Amino acid sequence: MAKTKQFKTESQKLLHLMTHSIYTQKEIFLRELISNASDAIDKRHYLSLTDSSIPTDTYEIWLTPNAKDRTLVVADNGIGFTEKELIENLGTIAQSGSKSFLEKIEQKDVDIIGQFGVGFYSAFMVSDKVIVETKSPYSNTGYRWSSKGESSYTIEEIEREEIGTTIILQLRDDDEENEEDFTKFTSEYTLKSLVKKYSDYVRYPINMMIEKKEKEKSTQVKETLNQMTPIWKRSKQDIKPEDMNQFYKHQFNDFEDPLKVIHTNVEGMLTYTALLFIPKKPAFDFYSEHYEKGLQLYTKGVFIQDKNKELIPDYFKFVKGLVDSADLSLNISREMLQHDRQLKKIASHLEKKIKSELENMMLHDRDQYIEFYEAYKTTLKYGIYDQYGLNKEKLQDLIMFQTNKSDDYISFKDYIERKPEEQKAIYYATGKTKQSILSLPQMDIMKENGYEVLLFTEDIDEFMIQVLQNYQDVPFKSVQQGESDLIDDTKKEDLKEKEKENKDILKAIKKALKEKVKDVKLSARLKESAVCLVSGEGLSLEMEKILKQMPN
Ligand code: ADP
Ligand code: MG
Repeated sequence: MAKTKQFKTESQKLLHLMTHSIYTQKEIFLRELISNASDAIDKRHYLSLTDSSIPTDTYEIWLTPNAKDRTLVVADNGIGFTEKELIENLGTIAQSGSKSFLEKIEQKDVDIIGQFGVGFYSAFMVSDKVIVETKSPYSNTGYRWSSKGESSYTIEEIEREEIGTTIILQLRDDDEENEEDFTKFTSEYTLKSLVKKYSDYVRYPINMMIEKKEKEKSTQVKETLNQMTPIWKRSKQDIKPEDMNQFYKHQFNDFEDPLKVIHTNVEGMLTYTALLFIPKKPAFDFYSEHYEKGLQLYTKGVFIQDKNKELIPDYFKFVKGLVDSADLSLNISREMLQHDRQLKKIASHLEKKIKSELENMMLHDRDQYIEFYEAYKTTLKYGIYDQYGLNKEKLQDLIMFQTNKSDDYISFKDYIERKPEEQKAIYYATGKTKQSILSLPQMDIMKENGYEVLLFTEDIDEFMIQVLQNYQDVPFKSVQQGESDLIDDTKKEDLKEKEKENKDILKAIKKALKEKVKDVKLSARLKESAVCLVSGEGLSLEMEKILKQMPN
């Protein structure tokens, strides 16, 4: 008996968009179904390594067009669906990719859709009805899911032995808005060229029976439509930047081209290929606890793991990509991977590589570096602060600040190089905005002396400095804290005199302010302002404010 169920609201929205597609590049549905098939085979293969109840197979994806019936079948022998998975994965949008797609669409960001993985529902762009027949190794029976892409779908049990999924598309016979004829998706020629265009690097064979005419007689022969060479296995010169960008966007669910691609082949004691990407913008969940860092892990082109956390340090968690190493055993379990020495070595290579690429960018492509830095500076600074400064040496040269003297960012190194010889500290000042810092009373004396001051506007900045303490033995010093060392000794003597003379008035002010201040002193650091607040040597005022805001 078939059960009818309602799609969840978000799914309904997405389906509505698909069936009334504003989107012209409908052909990408094939790329989506093939990529799901490939993912499903990856999953089955991976699980079979550690679970003997899951049989392996000769993994294949099959396309079967039928012009007469107006159907196209996409079949795989991947992991299949249990009934629960059909409901969870096809009845709701649980996938972060599809979810953020929907958000973008709702913001009317329509022109970027073409780049993006829109998932299973894209089948409804070209179909009146979609049927999914499937069998999972985790269930005793097969299931048929079917829907016309409106508000509901049905699920029923079927007899099916072979593990995997068969998706049957009943192609729409007309499309009034675009006057597009979807029977083209049953043509050999169209299917071949779509596979070439979008799915050539899929690592499993995408097969189709092709008509071969020989002397009046026509026979059907199996043909594999894709080259199956993963893009990272091709030689660097042969990869067009567009192809690389396309691969990135699809593989890692981004709308935009990457900011930076790092493609590296290492041979020798340890042999591996890494393909790393820095996204232009942090992923939409980058700052949430749901964000998972990690690189995909392959061995000899075969997928092992989706997000290997050991491969990338927290302070470079924005890096996406993959590592393919022939030196890893296919039969390795996830727990063992954590302790794998090869993997640790690769991780340490990659860390150095990323760092040197970033330093290079900073030197030779400043504009790109600024774009990078503005997107990820908080993560780098946090990396310095984290683990009691364990990684400060690695990261400190990637940090930059704007100053009272320059709108351009400068590094600590730049600061040291251009400061006057006799200046004994690297000065910084903290505030909510650049403007508010520049109008601090304490900036007066800095201005007068022509000293450069780093402008700290992020919460993390001072915490980072507490950990750094100094750069190349030059100490960091807040212009807002403690006794200013810019005041010479005669002035200090002077001040002591004056303090004695004005003892009573200072006492009176202190009494009036009660416990709001610790002390009231005369100051030689003020030029244009009458008073300023100064904190002691410990926590700064800004840090105290931040700590007060933090939940206990
Ligand atoms: P995504 O691929 O981004 O996760 P999709 O909308 O393409 O999103 O697919 C939704 C989910 O349905 C997948 O995450 C997967 O769990 C499941 N799925 C889709 N196609 C298949 C398939 N051929 N075999 C097994 N599971 C599949
Ligand atoms: Mg998908």
